[in-house]
Amino acid sequence: MTDLTDSFPTTAIDIAWNVRNNIVRATEVVERHLAEIERREDDIHAFNLVLADEARERAAEIDDAVSVGRDVGPLAGVPIALKDNMCTRGIPTTCSSKILDGWRPPYDATVVTKLREAGAIVIGKTNLDEFAMGSSTENSAFGPTRNPHDTTRVPGGSSGGSAAAVAAGFAALSLGSDTGGSIRQPAALCGVVGVKPTYGAVSRYGLIAFASSLDQIGPFSTTVADASLLLESISGHDPLDSTSIRQGSLDITRQLDFGVAGLRVGRITDLPEGASSDVVERLEQAFDALRDAGAEIVDVEVPAFTYGLTAYYLIAPAEASSNLARYDGVRFGNRVEAPDTNAMYTATRTDGFGAEVKRRIMLGTYALSAGYYDAYYGRALKVRQRIADDFARAYERADVLLTPASPTVAFHLGDKTSDPMSMYLCDTYTIPSNLTGEPAMSVPFGTGDDGLPVGVQVLAPALQEAMMFRTAAVLEQRVPR
Ligand code: GLN
Repeated sequence: MTDLTDSFPTTAIDIAWNVRNNIVRATEVVERHLAEIERREDDIHAFNLVLADEARERAAEIDDAVSVGRDVGPLAGVPIALKDNMCTRGIPTTCSSKILDGWRPPYDATVVTKLREAGAIVIGKTNLDEFAMGSSTENSAFGPTRNPHDTTRVPGGSSGGSAAAVAAGFAALSLGSDTGGSIRQPAALCGVVGVKPTYGAVSRYGLIAFASSLDQIGPFSTTVADASLLLESISGHDPLDSTSIRQGSLDITRQLDFGVAGLRVGRITDLPEGASSDVVERLEQAFDALRDAGAEIVDVEVPAFTYGLTAYYLIAPAEASSNLARYDGVRFGNRVEAPDTNAMYTATRTDGFGAEVKRRIMLGTYALSAGYYDAYYGRALKVRQRIADDFARAYERADVLLTPASPTVAFHLGDKTSDPMSMYLCDTYTIPSNLTGEPAMSVPFGTGDDGLPVGVQVLAPALQEAMMFRTAAVLEQRVPR
């Protein structure tokens, strides 16, 4: 697929169009992607599990359906990789944790059901930081994923496997989950598009919970239009998720080429520092590109932005400590036998969880403990509200906002593993949107140090995905070369 003389379709939109019109067979699409996986997966390790047989079978079904004139859906024949924290019926779902070893979910996540209805083909389950806690995919119990642009570097995290799979051409699309930046940061580091939708726009049913008030599922793709198509296919109300918004699927693609003429693009003047100069330079060029395209650049302040990181690292661990209590050796996966039940719980959890997950459980348990609840968790909730208020004020003056997605380009494996705080700082620019529930996406915008990809983040008010995507589409057209 890297051969430029080869006109075989690579984007999801092209693949689906060709498959639906009986020009290209889904079986051939799948074989080509499996060949790419065969060629490079040993170096990259994007997958915990490649579903070659299942993908071939499903492709044959789609080809049969096309040949008898049935409509197979907007994602017909498109290979998609799923982060391995999304439940797939009868297929191992590990969260890259030893504690879920051997567990096979009895049901599909709603997104998996929707993908099937849309004609997509699940090609594998991708690697992640254990329980989605991390920013480099190095916290996986199964070893790290490597960045396809430079295999000495991390792909970002926690959805590093999903980002790498799309960047390497293993799948045209993938899904990740984003609790504090886990779609947008790896998208930036791998040079692909990554979207965190409005909280509640995509069902979380069957997504293994990390921090339930922050988690959202969203797309990775090589183009903005592909991300739009995928997000439309997976969004919409789901009665199985009580936090799901009561409205139909998002309507984005129709407005994708509306441009940004007259749109007010906000520059946050009091943005926390920490972005490297190559990233800052690209961000400036992004403002210029939007101004050239007719947008008005306005200065806004979001004073509480800077407290997002602190609030998040109380709220997310607090919720995680509660969500992860269910892994006790009784109901799911691994059990380490011991003389009595309490000893069994301890032995199972000691053996089953990795260091970062244990750190989060301890942080969260502490933040929620009776004597400290008000000082930590309670106060973090107040900060969360302040951040939401500050954004609401900024959005009175701006339609969308622009920030870096990641403070730096991809770093080397091992660079941040001994210092959790340095790892947490990767999330500086992404976390606020999780705390407010508002949408944000990273769009590739040129390269930075060492020729590595840089992502620009576009933020928008709740349910304003169409405006956010329009902005991203203009940036995509005006990528600096
Ligand atoms: N890096 C952040 C964390 O470790 C975000 C993770 C995520 O979005 N799942 O919590």
